[in-house]
Amino acid sequence: MKSISSIVSNLYDASLSLVYPQSCAVCGRSVESRHDGVVCDACWSATRVFSASDTLCWKCGALSRATVSEDRRQQIRCRKCDDDAYTAARACGAYEGALRASILQLKRQSHVCRRLVALMHDLQQREPLNRADLIVPVPLHPDRERERGFNQAFVLGRELSRLSGLPLDEHSVVRRIHTDRHRAGMDAKARRRSVAGAFAVRHANLITGKSVLLIDDVFTTGATVSSCAEALKQSGAEDVFVLTVARA
Ligand SMILES: [Zn+2]
Ligand SMILES: [Zn+2]
Repeated sequence: MKSISSIVSNLYDASLSLVYPQSCAVCGRSVESRHDGVVCDACWSATRVFSASDTLCWKCGALSRATVSEDRRQQIRCRKCDDDAYTAARACGAYEGALRASILQLKRQSHVCRRLVALMHDLQQREPLNRADLIVPVPLHPDRERERGFNQAFVLGRELSRLSGLPLDEHSVVRRIHTDRHRAGMDAKARRRSVAGAFAVRHANLITGKSVLLIDDVFTTGATVSSCAEALKQSGAEDVFVLTVARA
């Protein structure tokens, strides 16, 4: 028997094809292709997407003003991320325009447009994320997931898994502590304290020796993904890479 959520999701897919063209969530002009989701082609094109030629902190993916030769890119560090537990983190682009609108939409509907999945796939295929061999979405606390009906990181991970062929493991990591990760007025240290020990690994045997690709929607201070990466490393993960849609 089909679950209610899969029926609702199918109905939603069907309704999507009926409502196009719809108005762009950024500029209000019409969105012609459902592959573009809730944003028009012009706004997608205007959104800052990071490319292989951008110079980044090799570890956390922050844009860097440093100018170095290609072969020294791996040595660039912003130093703010020194204590973070992941190996390296990358985002498709800045938290603005089409990426921001797509993330906000994903909090309401468990659907990711094809254009966004393609951007995530491009990023996953580049160094260093291409070393990962297993996709793990950052889990929500069960209470939060019940409230929302789905975990947006799982939806992103599932679509990336379909396109990349990398296996998806949405069961091995659980969130033990209910933290409000976008609480206003919290500085980096407070965020770090609030998520410390928030995650646990249930099936360490599935994680040991793996290079994990942790998926989330937004990278803000890195506290959440770092805490999750710490749990994975303690369970024997060799590396933990992070892929987010946007970097705030
Ligand atoms: Zn637009
Ligand atoms: Zn950094």
